Formats: sequence, structure tokens, C-alpha cells
Amino acid sequence: MDAQIVDGWPQGNEIRIILSNTDAAQVNAVRRALIADVPKLAIDKVNFTQGVNQDNKGEILESVNVLPDEVIAHRLAMIPIPTHPDEGMMHPDDCPNCKDLAEESKGCMTCQVLYHIRKEGPSEDSEETVRTVYAGDLTNISDQMFDIRDEHKRIPLTVLSKGQFLELYAFATLGRGRQHSKWSPVAAVGFRQHCIAKLNKPKKAKVLFDLGLTTSDGKPIDAKLFGKDKTMTDVNHLLDLEKALHQVGPGTNRDVEFDDAITLEPVEGSYIFTYETDGSLSPEQAFNGAMMELQGRFDNLASDIEKAFA
Ligand SMILES: [Zn+2]
Repeated sequence: MDAQIVDGWPQGNEIRIILSNTDAAQVNAVRRALIADVPKLAIDKVNFTQGVNQDNKGEILESVNVLPDEVIAHRLAMIPIPTHPDEGMMHPDDCPNCKDLAEESKGCMTCQVLYHIRKEGPSEDSEETVRTVYAGDLTNISDQMFDIRDEHKRIPLTVLSKGQFLELYAFATLGRGRQHSKWSPVAAVGFRQHCIAKLNKPKKAKVLFDLGLTTSDGKPIDAKLFGKDKTMTDVNHLLDLEKALHQVGPGTNRDVEFDDAITLEPVEGSYIFTYETDGSLSPEQAFNGAMMELQGRFDNLASDIEKAFA
């Protein structure tokens, strides 16, 4: 299998990759590895501080909240935690310091990241009625490389009314999407047959060209997108064209006149693979992670087969 990133990608957390010399089963194995097997960090344990506090102005604050603790814990789990696959973080079950400890004693600098929130509702004389707690209020106590990314800081967690406070310690650990979807680093993973568009009948293709459609980078969809040999190979334009062709397809009343003026010819063994990450990993890191997971699995399989036939 060969992989090549499509020109102009990744854009943010989204990516398009051409996978060639392969088949649908292999590409699907990559898809499944991305969803279920690539490890990432997510908050897995939360300790809430409970009780009644009095501040120095004599105001009484209670650890009573609008949302139940379980819901807050779940919302914390969904925040993308920056994951650095090359920095030697370990899964708690593989951590040399923790693997032989009881479940409740597990957790050290090598296998978990610690965050803290302490936030109070508006003061008694304030005009605010509620104060929102955001993901950005999580203070990272471990290493600053795990600070919540700017693009995720405005994720709201809950609101606090007057006389309420929220204090908690949250522990993020590595996990895999097959245990819980909070550990799945990707969304909208899909692939399609890689095709090349052929302009067979330039005159009849005007039915499509005259509709005034544009590509996602703003170019008009017309004969200029096709090369001298009347083919289109730019993957980004092909995906735009594929969508545009629905405007002249069956049921549009234009299909007879259009008469297959442009056809999509499949490229044997080649697929366009698309997905986006939640921001905890870059799209490239997630792809490399999926490759390592698959490689590890097939190495194990080879040695198991050898053992079985020994
Ligand atoms: Zn540990």
C-alpha cells in the first residue's frame, strides 16, 4: 500500500490521502484502526471536592451544581487532550511503575496527566446570575505540553449560580476507542474509489458548465479544469466534480441532454481516504499511529502462526 497526502491538505484537523496499490479490505482495516486502536489521552477519572466553604467576605459557597457530577465527568472526558505519541506516555496497564499496583493506586507522571479546576459562581452583589465553566478553566498540573489547546478552550462544561463552587481534579490517561469512544481520535472516517474524470463530449458537457457551479477553491466548473488530454486528475477538483455531476444525473431532467458527456473512470486499486481528528492528535500522527497498530498486529499474527505450525 502506498499513501500520498493530497495537495493542499491537511487543513486544520482534516486530511485527504490517496491510498494506492491496495484493496478495499486493507483500506477498511486502516479506517477501523484509526477509530478503535490509535491511543490518545482522555480524562478517565475525576475527584470532586464536596462540602461548604466560607470565603473571607463571609459568603457561603456550596459544592451543589446545576449538572450532576457524572454529567460533568462525561463532559470532561469529551475534551480533546493534546496527545504527544513520541513523548513516552504509557498506558496505565503497561506503566512500569503502576502495572503491578491495585486499580485505585495506579497513576504516576508516566501514565497520567493531572488537571485542576477551582471556580466559584458570581458573588452575592454581582449582576451576573450564572458563570460558565469552560474547558479553558482546566489548569494543567503536569507538563505544559498538555495544556488544553486554544481552539478547545471555549468548550462549555457547566454553569455556576450564586453560592455555588466547582472544584475538581481530573486525570487523563491513554486509552483506545474500542474501550470507549472518548479515546477515539477521529471522526467522519471514509473512503471512496479514486476516479479520473474524462471529458467525452465537450459540447454536451455545456449542460453542466452552464450551471455556473464552482469548485471549493472558487474556480468555475468548466472545460478549463480538464487537461489537454481531456482528463481531470486533481483530487480536490474531482471530489467537487463528483458532487456537481449530481446536478445532471438521473432525476434532474438534464441527464438525457448531458448524455454522459463527462464520465468517472475508476483507478484500479486506488482510494481516496478522508477523515478529521478531534484535535488531540494531528491527522498525520493519527495515520502513523494506525499504521503502527496494524503493523504490531500482523507481527503478532505471523509469530502466532509460526508457533501453531512449529
Ligand atoms: Zn504509572
